[in-house]
Amino acid sequence: MAGNFSASSLLRRDLLDLVPYKVHDCPGVIKMDANENSHGFPQEVLAEILERARQLALNRYPDSSARQLRAKIAAHTGLSPENVMVGNGSDEIIFNVMLAFAAGAKAAVTVPTFSMYAIHGRIAGAEVIEVPRRERDFGVDVETALKACEDPKVKVVIICSPNNPTGNATPPEDVQKIADGTRALVLVDEAYVEFAPASCRHLLDHLPNVALLRTFSKAFGMAGLRVGYLLASRELIEELEKVRQPFNLNSFSQEAAAAVLDNAKTFWARVEQIVRDRELLLAEMSRLPGVEVFPSQANFLLFRTPLPAGAVYSGLLRRGVLVRNVESPYLPRFLRVTVGTEEENRIFLEKLGEVLRD
Ligand SMILES: *Cc1c(COP(=O)(O)O)cnc(C)c1O
Repeated sequence: MAGNFSASSLLRRDLLDLVPYKVHDCPGVIKMDANENSHGFPQEVLAEILERARQLALNRYPDSSARQLRAKIAAHTGLSPENVMVGNGSDEIIFNVMLAFAAGAKAAVTVPTFSMYAIHGRIAGAEVIEVPRRERDFGVDVETALKACEDPKVKVVIICSPNNPTGNATPPEDVQKIADGTRALVLVDEAYVEFAPASCRHLLDHLPNVALLRTFSKAFGMAGLRVGYLLASRELIEELEKVRQPFNLNSFSQEAAAAVLDNAKTFWARVEQIVRDRELLLAEMSRLPGVEVFPSQANFLLFRTPLPAGAVYSGLLRRGVLVRNVESPYLPRFLRVTVGTEEENRIFLEKLGEVLRD
């Protein structure tokens, strides 16, 4: 019998044609593809984390309710710990939201946007429906979003703001209109909010169906330690707790994120630098003939050139610079570049110029 074993015959039918998410590993290149913090992690904060880590009882399971970290996040955001849930990266929280609310039903995503919503939704068994953003400025159209939410099977609508990969933010007034007009959960992914002038934080004070997703992976330079968090009403978090794995966030990452918040000032200086460099890079890119760059409130820029995106991507890679090819039917010939250090930005500009001239 075992000779006839076929793993694929056991797999859920709806996952048969799913292609596992692949991350391109290109050692030795300038990494401007994943919107990480290009400035590295501050040495003095790392030293503090390592010192604090000495006190951790690594033989014990982590604090399942992440008390210290949730208290610090609550203080950082002006909420109570009951309004905070932490995750193994915000990715895990996206998955848990899908599992708890959208499995067997539908989730609406405003495309083009972060690809993980559709991936997690599908794995969790939710049908993911696409609500197209406006073609002209990639803004979320309130009417279109509300129309999609009229389907009672839509349990969650996700708005990434500032949006990855387009860089634009959705005005909090528009998020409010959408939340006012639906009974679905409106999940605002604020992964890049630290680089933006506005947040939807104030909406939490009076809209029970709004939740905000944040991360330590971008402005706080901690992508390798996988910490994200959700801000929401106590009721919503109580329901989500039902699907959260009890020890989802390890002790080291809890301590590291707490230390980062204790040293937030160090990170704000870097964020300001990145925002200044973003505007410089935007201006410089716009000067290259044929390059169209879009304004951004995040730490990356969306751009397109007259060439196919694949040609620009591989031309840059051959010259040692890794960017993200985000080409899709919604984004023909588009690429995304993370704002790097001054040096990295200079090299990227030089190499992009070369690729376009060749
Ligand atoms: C990078 C990113 C995240 C962060 O994911 P983590 O799992 O917290 O590292 C979340 N949402 C968007 C839109 C992102 O671009």
